[in-house]
This record gives sequence, C-alpha cells and structure tokens, in this order.
Amino acid sequence: LHVIRAQSSPDYIPDSKFYKVEAILRPWRVQQVSSVRTDKPRPFLFMALLNMGIRGVTVSDVRGFGAQGGSTERHGGSEFSEDKFVAKVKMEIVVSKDQVEGVIDKIMEEARTGEIGDGKIFLVPVSDVIRVRTGERGEKAERMAGGWSDISSAV
Ligand code: ATP
Ligand code: GLN
Repeated sequence: LHVIRAQSSPDYIPDSKFYKVEAILRPWRVQQVSSVRTDKPRPFLFMALLNMGIRGVTVSDVRGFGAQGGSTERHGGSEFSEDKFVAKVKMEIVVSKDQVEGVIDKIMEEARTGEIGDGKIFLVPVSDVIRVRTGERGEKAERMAGGWSDISSAV
C-alpha cells in the first residue's frame, strides 16, 4: 500500500491560533481491536498520536453515510454494520496551528486503507480554549503537560 499524503494546503482561512482536527474514521483503524489482522504491524492511530505528544483527544462512536453508500463494511470476516449507516469513530483534536499538518499526516498514515469508506477530515478554526480547572485561556489552556510543545522544547 503506497503512501498518500494530504495535498499541500494554502494558509488556512479563517486564520486562527488553534484548530480542531475533526476526523471521521473506520473504528478499527483508530484503536487496536484484538480480532483484527493487519498486513504489517503498526501502531493504530490513537497510539501513534500519543507517541507524537497529543494528550487531548475526544472520541465518539458515530454512524455515518457517505460515498460508501452505507454498504456493509467487512473486515476479517466480521460485519461492522447491518443498516444503511456505517459505524465510524469521530476523533476531535484541538491543536495549535503549527501542529495541524502533523496531526493530519499521522491520521493519513494510520487510518488510510485506500478503500472507499476511509473517512474524511474537517479542519475547524477554534476561537479560544479555556481550562475549566484553572480559568486559563488561549495558549496556556491549550498546552498539555508532557504534550507536543513540552516534548519539542525539551530537545
Ligand atoms: P486539567 O489539567 O485540569 O486536567 P486538561 O487540559 O488536562 O485539564 P481535561 O480536563 O483532562 O483537560 O480534559 C477533559 C476532556 O476534554 C478530555 O477527556 C477530552 O475529551 C477533552 N480534551 C481536552 N483537551 C482536548 C484537546 N486538545 N482536543 C480535544 N479534546 C480535548
Ligand atoms: N498543543 C498541545 C501541546 O503542545 C497538545 C494538544 C493536544 O494534545 N491536543 O501541548
């Protein structure tokens, strides 16, 4: 399976300090499922994101309908859905602007099979981040202890 990357993007509009990367993906590409066989061993998306310093992630189980037309998704002989909507996972990751492309690359790398139904990524500008515990806003609230910024500034 050859690597396909997201095509290069012009500057995001509207410009923002933070963006939410919202990805609708195949559930079995996000987290390791014991019944899943893979062609080559690789960390699934959630582990891969943790490894790069992503600490804040929101995940929901959703059901969707797209170009896949709700056709039944099969993998390793097991059915993932029986009705017109296909079970997907929605991952929402708020990151600073300079981290967006890295997160998109990682999603492309780990979530792509090349088959219809791989999903879609939406990029949403985020006006502010407020940490409820402390009342911090902006960069201070968006930074996570031991997160990407900490890791890169420690180098
Ligand atoms: P604290 O230091 O007070 O624990 P925190 O910044 O570590 O604050 P949490 O309170 O642990 O954040 O976050 C609560 C929930 O918010 C998480 O379980 C996750 O669903 C979501 N979340 C936090 N940060 C992000 C982020 N950057 N992107 C997406 N979801 C996030
Ligand atoms: N940008 C944050 C940091 O560098 C991480 C954000 C996240 O984990 N979603 O610490």
